[in-house]
Amino acid sequence: MLSVSEAIRIVIEQARQLPVERVALERALGRVLAEDVRADSDLPPFDRAQMDGFAVRSADTQSAPVRLRVVGESAAGLGWHEEMRAGEAVRIMTGAPVPHGADSVQKVEVTGEGGGFVEIAEATREGQFIVPQASEVSAGETVLRKGETINAARMAALASFGCAQISVGARPRVAVLATGTELVRVDEKPAEDQIRDSNSFSIGAYAELSGAQVERLPLANDDPKVLRREIREAAARSDALILSGGVSMGVYDFTKTALRSLDAEIFFERVSLRPGKPTVFARLDNALVFGLPGNPVSVSVTFNLFARTALRAMQGDPLPALVEERAILTRTVKGSVERASYLPAILLTSEDGRLMAEPLKWGGSSDFVAFTRATALIIAPEGVRSVEAGEVVKIVRLPS
Ligand code: AMP
Ligand code: MG
Repeated sequence: MLSVSEAIRIVIEQARQLPVERVALERALGRVLAEDVRADSDLPPFDRAQMDGFAVRSADTQSAPVRLRVVGESAAGLGWHEEMRAGEAVRIMTGAPVPHGADSVQKVEVTGEGGGFVEIAEATREGQFIVPQASEVSAGETVLRKGETINAARMAALASFGCAQISVGARPRVAVLATGTELVRVDEKPAEDQIRDSNSFSIGAYAELSGAQVERLPLANDDPKVLRREIREAAARSDALILSGGVSMGVYDFTKTALRSLDAEIFFERVSLRPGKPTVFARLDNALVFGLPGNPVSVSVTFNLFARTALRAMQGDPLPALVEERAILTRTVKGSVERASYLPAILLTSEDGRLMAEPLKWGGSSDFVAFTRATALIIAPEGVRSVEAGEVVKIVRLPS
């Protein structure tokens, strides 16, 4: 059977990057940069005071306390642009340009001003409380790279260099289709034998967290004709279609039947994964199609391993898959001989600062309410009967 890493590799291979678009900076949060960004100016753009106080020549202050004549003021946005001479000082504020002739700033707390003079109580050293021009970034330097996801800190960097508009990967249009005759909508009361659909909401939310634009389709019964039509129409207007349910071996599992009848190209329909073995990955027209097993926990696991990876790759993320990290297992977990297990866990930090993975106590893989507490998945590799408490395991964090 196909391993999880092979399946992820196939997904990345099939996910074509969407065209690039320009967006206003205020709309760029979470988007993937499609261009390198260079500084259009030095940072700081001038020698900048780091403290409120007085700009002085350090040589003048070596015999502190000394009295210097106050010849001007440099404020943020309103600098003093004459030459400061020996025996002189300029009152200065944080963020203001340091005048020519000054080589240091003394903070206001160790000065006393009066009658046109200032007494500097402590000597300064050259460069003190000055952030030199271009010491952080030089004009022309690359500050952000193509493929980086724009977060709050990167927004600030983009703003600082005047990037009012920025090129980013387009957001994939994702259609979500929950299938199953037993399903009713969130605003309906389930009748006998029915349950409310929850998968549309987890899939939709995870897809939005991945950067996609989501369309939730009406629920579909287990009817091959209905499925065929819904899949065809949704695939025609989407970059990705994500189905839940109907991919197992049951008599009413028609997702694959529908995909085959539409001549979809099926890349895989089984992965060596627990939960999530019957996951289907296909292409129909220009849309990637994921058929996720309907069990709500399987949906969360398989979406994040496969569909999320495709959606990130489509946006130009060079590392689209969840990143594997390592943690220490707090309790022994059972693995599976035939499949890799992805088990819900809570991440904690031990008193000595080590990352710990606490397997979730739950009622098994349909217990999606217990799953709401999970922050990560523990990976118990294929062929391992159990992983013991205290062992180092690989984990992936669940997006949140
Ligand atoms: P299936 O993959 O269709 O065999 O479904 C597996 C299990 O997941 C069944 O117990 C279904 O009732 C349940 N299930 C399927 N789709 C959903 C959904 N959209 N929301 C909640 N549970 C579902
Ligand atoms: Mg079903």
